[in-house]
Amino acid sequence: MSELIERALQSAHETKQVISAAGALDEVASVFSEAFPGATAIVIGDERTMAAAGDKVAAVLAAAGVSTLDPYVFPGEPELYAKYENVELLRGVLEPLSAVAIAVGGGSLNDLVKRTSGELGRPYMVVATAASMDGYTAFGASIAKDGYKNTLNCPAPVAAVADIDVLAAAPSVMTASGYGDLIGKVPAGADWLIADALGVEAVDKGVWDLVQGPLRTSLSRPDALAAGDADAVAGLAEGLLMSGLAMQAHQSSRPASGAEHQFSHLWEMEGHGTDIKPRRLSHGFKVALGTVSIAALYEILLATDLTRLDIDAAVRAWPTRSRLEEKIRRYHSHPQVLPAAIEQTMAKYIEPADLAVRLHQVVELWPTLKVTLADQLIGAAELQKMLRAAGAPAHPDDIRLGWGAFKDTYVRSQMIRKRYTVLDLALEANLLDGIVEELFAADGFWGTQQP
Ligand SMILES: [Zn+2]
Repeated sequence: MSELIERALQSAHETKQVISAAGALDEVASVFSEAFPGATAIVIGDERTMAAAGDKVAAVLAAAGVSTLDPYVFPGEPELYAKYENVELLRGVLEPLSAVAIAVGGGSLNDLVKRTSGELGRPYMVVATAASMDGYTAFGASIAKDGYKNTLNCPAPVAAVADIDVLAAAPSVMTASGYGDLIGKVPAGADWLIADALGVEAVDKGVWDLVQGPLRTSLSRPDALAAGDADAVAGLAEGLLMSGLAMQAHQSSRPASGAEHQFSHLWEMEGHGTDIKPRRLSHGFKVALGTVSIAALYEILLATDLTRLDIDAAVRAWPTRSRLEEKIRRYHSHPQVLPAAIEQTMAKYIEPADLAVRLHQVVELWPTLKVTLADQLIGAAELQKMLRAAGAPAHPDDIRLGWGAFKDTYVRSQMIRKRYTVLDLALEANLLDGIVEELFAADGFWGTQQP
């Protein structure tokens, strides 16, 4: 186990063991027995993940004499979806059994087993089959209820095993998704630095290092990842596992998620890309485009001299609560997104007098803050190159998102989470609309790429 993961486990709340190595499937039985002494195991997979790793997991458990029940296997076609009906189905299967579930699969399967085990008040373990997202070691599960995708609360796994041989053999589109999820930690870090500087949410240096420490190395070889290079995949897997552990340590997704994830969450909540075949649009692919989008916004913000900010004009432009609610209603009509947006936006609303204080702070801090942010960030064009090399999306066309809907996301996504990000800073400084217009102008970052 890497030293970093070992360090991360010391502060993780639920996960006690993580093994990320070539041939790690051979250790599944010893990990299970150590985590759940004397317990009976039940492997949960789908037809694809059973072939990739599940059958081997069952064989390793049996050979080691671990008591096991017959695996529960979802169909391989159509692609498994993390919808609440599948949680209910799985709960029906697991409830009468006295067994610990071992999820063998990617994001959807892990989320289903995580949530079901959580509802049953049972611990579980996960065996990853793709380096496709950072949720293996995180708490919470992204589950669709009545077509509306949301993060439901539930504990992280007690143990996680990632066999690099299995991950490297996964479809390249899944590895590219993991790359997209991980590259989002670059602007997410910048957002946390802003929130820290303004006294909204302090950076926890220990947790910060877990994610940001190995990040640049994990992201450094996108072309090797696309080629399925095992060392590059090991680096990506480590970055993703660390990110999940950091969220556990911080008991919040702040270390791993900023405005780029708000882009992704908005599209997820509204169901964008669920109809794309043969593979649904992944979380990581949405984060990939969110990351380029936010990096482009940062570039304009960093080129703006905020020491000359017109604070009085910004405070005059700041809406009252009722005006703000009217605005949210103008931008959101989805029956489930709208109430969530009102709640989340109101939770971060500040009164005009407090806004003036905050903006004075911005003016004062800007000369140093802009340097810190520039150090943290990667340019939007460079990010596009990295993502394309990995085989991940870098343009709205790549995720079949219409140009207007894409542009609107800059304004709409600010309203769906109370987390303070660069979108809030830009909005409060009365700069957001202008920046968006600049991005989409004929000679702007996006304008020059309009299809
Ligand atoms: Zn993510």
